[in-house]
Amino acid sequence: MAKIAILERKCTGCGLCAKNCPFSAIDMKDGRPDLNAACKVCGICVKSCPEKAIVKLETKVDSVDKTKWKDILVFAEAHGGRLHPVSLELIGKAKELAGPVGFAVKAVLVGSNVSAFAEELRHYGVSEVAVYDDEALSYFRADAYAACVEDYIKFAHPSVVLVGATSLGRSLAPRLATRFHTGLTADCTKLELRENTDLVQIRPAFGGNIMAQIITTNTRPQFATVRYKVMNTPVRSEEAAGTILNRKLPKGVSESKVSCVSVEPVPPKKSISDAEILVVGGRGLQKEADLEMVKELAALLGGDWATSRPLVEKGWATNDRQIGLSGRTVRPRLIITCGVSGAIQFTACMNGSDHIVAINTDENAPIFQVAHVAIVGDLYEILPRLIRQLKEEQA
Ligand SMILES: Cc1cc2nc3c(=O)[nH]c(=O)nc-3n(C[C@H](O)[C@H](O)[C@H](O)COP(=O)(O)OP(=O)(O)OC[C@H]3O[C@@H](n4cnc5c(N)ncnc54)[C@H](O)[C@@H]3O)c2cc1C
Repeated sequence: MAKIAILERKCTGCGLCAKNCPFSAIDMKDGRPDLNAACKVCGICVKSCPEKAIVKLETKVDSVDKTKWKDILVFAEAHGGRLHPVSLELIGKAKELAGPVGFAVKAVLVGSNVSAFAEELRHYGVSEVAVYDDEALSYFRADAYAACVEDYIKFAHPSVVLVGATSLGRSLAPRLATRFHTGLTADCTKLELRENTDLVQIRPAFGGNIMAQIITTNTRPQFATVRYKVMNTPVRSEEAAGTILNRKLPKGVSESKVSCVSVEPVPPKKSISDAEILVVGGRGLQKEADLEMVKELAALLGGDWATSRPLVEKGWATNDRQIGLSGRTVRPRLIITCGVSGAIQFTACMNGSDHIVAINTDENAPIFQVAHVAIVGDLYEILPRLIRQLKEEQA
């Protein structure tokens, strides 16, 4: 850990540090520099001070004994009578990460009547499935679920804990990270594991302009959430392996401060994340009516349609149709983008698609860097031709 210190006796109050700070983290108070909470310890003020009155101090932080924390734990989300598919995707990724460092992959299931899912998880290569199955866990109560997972983490000491970035996971993971006074990176798009077992948690940052690599160097476990459809689903093995460990409910469950008054099930809704074929409209479309071409092509291909963010902002589509960091992540077999430039906030959430076809008039559009088939041309010529041809073939 580092921090910035100002040596009062050397400071002349010239204000150069405040002027040069890219984060506006230095205020001049009574002719003296004063650091505020925006300081990122970048050290630019240290370099810009002509009097050498600003120094960067490295403070020693106690580090856990990493050898005492091993294996990767996946929170297997079983809720509303189904195992969320993100849980399997996380197990697949965990297996990839675990192999080289000799870790095992474990899963923890929390809920009521979830034992059947434990059996199913055994077909995906986990060495142990810890189960907290009790009627008291029928509904998601964040404190009760956190108490169960905390109990298992204290028992198993996993180095890494992966949680799906679902509504439930987004509520659970921060509570757990706080209980262990450790780090959590939300919405990771890539994960790597170093030889020293530090998890490199990669995700877009600063509005998607950079891909940040975040590591939790001194504490364990390392928590990360990952969105549905970002990782691959592993192949189910015919043979079941691993053991099931039925765990007793910890104290926290009966002490839950949350009581469930009623439950209103939301009818299942079709999501663009589940589509196998997607046709996507971008700002290259000039008016709302032109989106009909995108919808028609999608229907002819037996797929669904989606948009980039500007079309949602214009009110042409609802947010659940938006692909991207502030929308949905998709991974279809085929995606055709029409008049989409390919900003990182968009591509980060669709670049795992099997086949990417991009239509754009600008041959230098960034979308072509992720496309497998690049069509440099006017969507107003290409879409009608594609639609006509498909109609003829289908007739
Ligand atoms: C924090 C943050 C989060 C964001 N989240 C998202 C997000 O979730 N999803 C998202 O999409 N964006 C998001 N954005 C916005 C993103 O940065 C881009 O502005 C946006 O993706 C651009 O959308 P677009 O490609 O449709 O439009 P543009 O960038 O305007 O691109 C339009 C493209 O159409 C092409 N074109 C024009 N006419 C034609 C034609 N006749 N035929 C073919 N091509 C044509 C142009 O050459 C151009 O490349 C986010 C930004 C920030 C800062």
